[in-house]
Amino acid sequence: MFFDPSALMEVRNLAIDYVGDNEVLRAVNGISFNIKRGEIFGLAGESGCGKSTVAFGLARLTRLPGLVSGGSVSFNGEEVLNFDGDRLRQYRWGEVSFVFQSAMNALNPVIRVSEQLTDVIQTHKSCSLQVARERAAEMFELVGIHPDRLEDFPHQFSGGMRQRICIAIALCLEPKLIIMDEPTTALDVVVQRDIIEQIRALQEQLGFSVLFITHDLGLMIEFCDRIGIMYSGELVEVGPSATIFENPLHPYTEALGQSFPPLTGPRVRLEGIEGSPPRLSEIPLGCRFSPRCSKAIAVCKNQSPHLIDYPKQESRAACHLLQL
Ligand code: SF4
Repeated sequence: MFFDPSALMEVRNLAIDYVGDNEVLRAVNGISFNIKRGEIFGLAGESGCGKSTVAFGLARLTRLPGLVSGGSVSFNGEEVLNFDGDRLRQYRWGEVSFVFQSAMNALNPVIRVSEQLTDVIQTHKSCSLQVARERAAEMFELVGIHPDRLEDFPHQFSGGMRQRICIAIALCLEPKLIIMDEPTTALDVVVQRDIIEQIRALQEQLGFSVLFITHDLGLMIEFCDRIGIMYSGELVEVGPSATIFENPLHPYTEALGQSFPPLTGPRVRLEGIEGSPPRLSEIPLGCRFSPRCSKAIAVCKNQSPHLIDYPKQESRAACHLLQL
């Protein structure tokens, strides 16, 4: 794979399992990718492919029965999987923060939002309540909400404003990476666009990197610099968002691209992908996509393809057809 020593985060062979009483199910099977400084990196794939499991693993938020069971996550040259105690506390939120899917679930409904911001600030920085409040007001202004609203409760805000509050909380310690897991799902398209434009403007102003997860491929192409495509716990292709769906190397990327309407040009009939991804307990031998792949050849049924670099497209993909 392309090794970029200047990358902010370098993920190597990351494996995450779900551990039951009688079995261990591998949800993420040795994935490798990096996130550059100031980059917006997207993770795409069908529900259950492991995107959120990866995001939680990178933020060190995996909880039993989930277990990070192998690999390495290097952040600014340090091994994140070895962090504990104060170093782990500093990493979580101070260096990597999270915007969760549902703002109403992420915010405590019975605590005023000012307290939810100052709590984060004072937990990580030794400062007075007055200084923390000033910082909270600054963050509200940054995300376009008048600081007069700081004493309100979450239910007094619209869905879009609540999501902005979550972004303010994620930004308040100036992290280098923000993980956004479906940050605009459940919002209408106009609010969604406003929020995405605001995140882009903040990212350009403050220079943080973003790991962006969404089901909306159109949004992902517009918003991200590079995209990684996941299928059944594996990364099957990584490439620039400008070309990954125009010139896909992997049949799954191609099929995914044909499953959502183009943003421009004539209306086309959407193809979709027949069947569903395998259950974690019924992973097929060979290429995991082979039962649904219209291009499968004999070797696909018994050998797993590995990611190969395609420097010409600045891409990587895992498919036997690319080695013929
Ligand atoms: Fe299809 Fe084979 Fe490529 Fe898998 S390795 S995507 S089954 S052609």
